[in-house]
Amino acid sequence: MPRKTKSSPEIEGALVIDADTKTLEQYYAGARLESPMGGFLEPIGVRPTEEGGGIALFECTSSSLRFVLEIPKASRGDREKVKKQMDDGEDPYCPRHGPLSRLHRMGDQLTCPRCGVPFRRAPR
Ligand SMILES: [Zn+2]
Repeated sequence: MPRKTKSSPEIEGALVIDADTKTLEQYYAGARLESPMGGFLEPIGVRPTEEGGGIALFECTSSSLRFVLEIPKASRGDREKVKKQMDDGEDPYCPRHGPLSRLHRMGDQLTCPRCGVPFRRAPR
């Protein structure tokens, strides 16, 4: 059984999905994740974490249990890709999800709507 989270009321009691490379790749590719309880994990939302990463929240289609996937914070390479997009005059997008996920301004950061991860400070 996966360990439980305890950080915020919204995700309290949710079970943590093992964020291995394969699971993250599936998530970034937009694939449906299989639930450890059978069925699939239906995405509910994402939020940034205090550590600069993201958390994706899911509900299992068969058990209705909630699961969270912890998404690693932006790497130096991720930030540089976003900077290059901006330097090229492009509307910046998530270096993991690709051009279909444009970064949104959240506070003073440009954040992926699907990772919850802030990738760069928003231009003034
Ligand atoms: Zn993303």
